[in-house]
Amino acid sequence: MFRTNLAVAVGTATVVAAALTGVPASAQPSAPNVAPAAAADALIAARPSYLHASSLDTFQRRQVISSEGINYVPFTRTYKGFPVDGGDLVVATDAAGKAVYTSVAQTSPIGDLAVTPKITDTAALATAKAQLKTVTNVEGTKLVVVAEEGKAARLAWQSTINGTGAEGVSRLTVNVDAISGAVLGTKEHVTNVSGTGNGWIYGSVTLDTTLSGSTYLLQDPSHTTVKAQNATGNATFSGTDNVWGNGVGTNRESGGVDAFYVAQKQYAMLSSWLGRSGQNGSGGAWPIRVGLNDQNAYYDGTQVQIGKNTAGQWIASADVVGHELGHGIDDNTPGGISAKGTQEFVADTFGAATEWYINSPADAPDYLVGEEVNLVGSGPIRNMYNPSALGDSNCYTSSTPTGEVHAAAGPGNHWFYLLAQGTSGNGQPASTTCNSTTITGLGIQKAIKIMYNAMLLKTSASSYLKYRVWTLQAAKTLYPSSCTEFNTVKAAWTAVSVPAQSGEPTC
Ligand SMILES: [Zn+2]
Repeated sequence: MFRTNLAVAVGTATVVAAALTGVPASAQPSAPNVAPAAAADALIAARPSYLHASSLDTFQRRQVISSEGINYVPFTRTYKGFPVDGGDLVVATDAAGKAVYTSVAQTSPIGDLAVTPKITDTAALATAKAQLKTVTNVEGTKLVVVAEEGKAARLAWQSTINGTGAEGVSRLTVNVDAISGAVLGTKEHVTNVSGTGNGWIYGSVTLDTTLSGSTYLLQDPSHTTVKAQNATGNATFSGTDNVWGNGVGTNRESGGVDAFYVAQKQYAMLSSWLGRSGQNGSGGAWPIRVGLNDQNAYYDGTQVQIGKNTAGQWIASADVVGHELGHGIDDNTPGGISAKGTQEFVADTFGAATEWYINSPADAPDYLVGEEVNLVGSGPIRNMYNPSALGDSNCYTSSTPTGEVHAAAGPGNHWFYLLAQGTSGNGQPASTTCNSTTITGLGIQKAIKIMYNAMLLKTSASSYLKYRVWTLQAAKTLYPSSCTEFNTVKAAWTAVSVPAQSGEPTC
């Protein structure tokens, strides 16, 4: 979902501290067996004040996601019929249909906003196109209302365009003020690894492939959107013998083997550890295309592209493919791609969890990103137990949300490591904290479960500050009879200098 660009300062918007304080009793469905969607609908219909809804707002329920007995019901919002960018929310209900938590992106009512544009869609599109170096395709332009934290709502023309920008391949959504013609914000959908490399091959692995006639395909037989393709022509790798690749890192089909193996293993991890059906939440994923002529890999909402290291080896390791598909998971949980410096840390947690789930002797699980290769002769590109070892920040500061997105992953990766492994490292390297405290880890399986369930409360107004609140709520929901998990989540955020938030959950 579109939000604003990363240059927006972190504000003080509150996630509505649920427990439903202040919500009318009539809005709290409590009868057993009430369908979660109906329960959420009833809550929305009662228009509690924390929705910041006017009489001109309407809400659209999206696909319900269930996890660990809780149903997460996302909603989008329209104002006078126009989509509200930043108007989304999630209602979490328990098995009895009772709402237990609500996260709301919008922080104030839209009020009385005229919805007649003063500039044309053509003029707005021209402004949008000027945000890229080259434009190869326009997906469309539509009128929206932008409800940005701490600012008055604006009518905007929203265009999504494809091409190249300063950072390379781009799929960019641009909001242009429909009254003044100014750019209100941009959102990049291409989320890359900043050029990691891995020529290493998983070796001899078992793959669940598809037989079509007399031809085998590198495509999952049960989940057909999970497949590996040659990026030249986008043809799914195929053959007559069901034997794939040759173990040589520069061989494109061998890269396809690694990528497909990781995608299937991650699919299994999501099911086994998190109860999620596929990377997209609906039993599928996206084609992984090997052959990008760049020291990089990316996800753009429709595909994953895998590039190569300086030795020409395709970089399809767990912490790269798992990371890119992690962007897809982020994109396909409420609120869309995480914002304000959190998107790369979110993807790294899924890369690490995938690597640990695979637990291959060819790639001993760790908390480095891209460690097997020498992309440019300097080993891994990120370090989760000591981000500063590779130039990223160990500790959160007020400038983190506006920093370069990969560097901004440092505090979040550090938090995840402390949550999973603790300061001792528990068999992994020791990790220091920003406040000289000692933390005992919960293990990576609990850590990723807390992370994922927090993402189900995500809105388009995500940030490190919100993730602190959402992960605390997730720990509380997942482990209702223990405060150990909650306290560890809290201690780990404090240990990376993400401060306590007004109204955050307590245990
Ligand atoms: Zn990334």
